[in-house]
Amino acid sequence: MSAMAAGLLRTTAETSDYKSTSRYDDVIAFIHAVQKIDPEIRVETFATTTEGRALPLVIVGSGRKKPIVFIMANIHAGEVEGKEAAQMLLRDLVTTHRKLRERMTILIAPIYNADGNEKISTTHRTTQVGPVNGVGVRENGQGLDLNRDYMKLESPEARGLVANVLARWDPLVTIDLHTTNGSYHGYQLTYAPPLNPNADARIIAFERETLLPEIRERMKKRHGKETYYYGNFVDQLEPEKGWYTFDNRPRFGNNYAGLRNRFAILSEAYSYIDFRARVEVTHQFLHEILRAVDKHAQKMMRIAAAADEARPKTAGVRFEIKPWRKSVPILWESATRAEPGEGIANPDTGNGPDIIRGGKITPLKMTDYGIFAATEKSDVPYAFVVDKRAVANLLTHGIVVERLSAPANVRLSEFAVAKSEHAEKPFQKHNEVTLTGKWKDRDATLDEGTFIVRTDQPLGRLAFYLLDARSDDGLVEWNFFEDLVPLPAKIMKRTPLVATVVRAAE
Ligand SMILES: [Zn+2]
Repeated sequence: MSAMAAGLLRTTAETSDYKSTSRYDDVIAFIHAVQKIDPEIRVETFATTTEGRALPLVIVGSGRKKPIVFIMANIHAGEVEGKEAAQMLLRDLVTTHRKLRERMTILIAPIYNADGNEKISTTHRTTQVGPVNGVGVRENGQGLDLNRDYMKLESPEARGLVANVLARWDPLVTIDLHTTNGSYHGYQLTYAPPLNPNADARIIAFERETLLPEIRERMKKRHGKETYYYGNFVDQLEPEKGWYTFDNRPRFGNNYAGLRNRFAILSEAYSYIDFRARVEVTHQFLHEILRAVDKHAQKMMRIAAAADEARPKTAGVRFEIKPWRKSVPILWESATRAEPGEGIANPDTGNGPDIIRGGKITPLKMTDYGIFAATEKSDVPYAFVVDKRAVANLLTHGIVVERLSAPANVRLSEFAVAKSEHAEKPFQKHNEVTLTGKWKDRDATLDEGTFIVRTDQPLGRLAFYLLDARSDDGLVEWNFFEDLVPLPAKIMKRTPLVATVVRAAE
């Protein structure tokens, strides 16, 4: 049945000779065709978009005590090869690679930003090499970037992803498929682990020291392809200034997964190789990740469980980029400065306009600015005291929120605001807030019914990041507490609290 089944299941990219990418209906039809061949494949709807599209989550394998790997594609619907590669992987799992299902459960969300996908036009991402019949847009139907929405959860897509996939299924590994649009380099695909240092150090270390180097080696040996950590030359014309990764903040999915004590791999196919090659490298990368996760599953599950038990006493709230390794050979593509108007003016590169690509790939030794370190830390309290403005958000993340069943006398630490600054430029429809001030203690009596969040729970690190007043990506930053009174406060000392778990937003 395998060969015949594979013959029946062809993606839009394949049937169009890589001139087109799948529409929403094509993806749904492909999933239905897979289900007709294999009755064990289940599909859930994890969210419904603002334009009314049900987002499919395909479930392959159902073994208990087995690792769960989650593959998500098309968060940015101009970056479409993940959507094609994810469908091809699904086909492999019902034909050539059935054995993998006995060893792990694989969840696939092939078309996360479905509304963005349906706006296909040849005018989008024009510096990307194909598909010639066009791609969708970055934003969802609300005009939001879903890869900036993991903390604030303003889109139905992100709320569904977090509640119905990450919280409900608790995948050990999340793989998020993208396409670059930055510097000119010699890698067909680049990748990133969680970058926020508040994530458990063992997760980050295992990815950097074992998982990603092994996958990289396999990509080279077995597929003949160069891959490396995601980054950009700060200046394409002066590459010796270094290779820079992107951002520490958990509004990005790979960083968010790290704060949930789980592994994540961001995958970025290289924009400037053709569409077929991008689909191929992404498809191969998925296979190599699954192979490596299968090999290391027991150890990875132990690390994740240990991270769930860890209780850091302090954690970062402000961060800076740092050199990870000095003198690393990075594959640079030569470029020269063009006369105004002659070169490529790509607004996305950050390389400045008007360069001419040289086409020559050279390994150049430079500093890899690939990590972040906290520049400011804050104490992780025993519990946060919050009000109802935060509750729905916290519950969607899967954080345990409680309500006092009786008044409680506590020593309360409150953030006394010296200055509150809104960003001048709106970002994602927000003018983000930065508070300065200091924590001040007083004795207080909390009323019955007060909401509290103890950090002594597996998602304690995430709760801290959402609730600390100085957090660079928390609910204060995202305008949840615009009048500032009251801000989330802290109970520093372990205090007996008579409370009941809140089950749903009230
Ligand atoms: Zn992207």
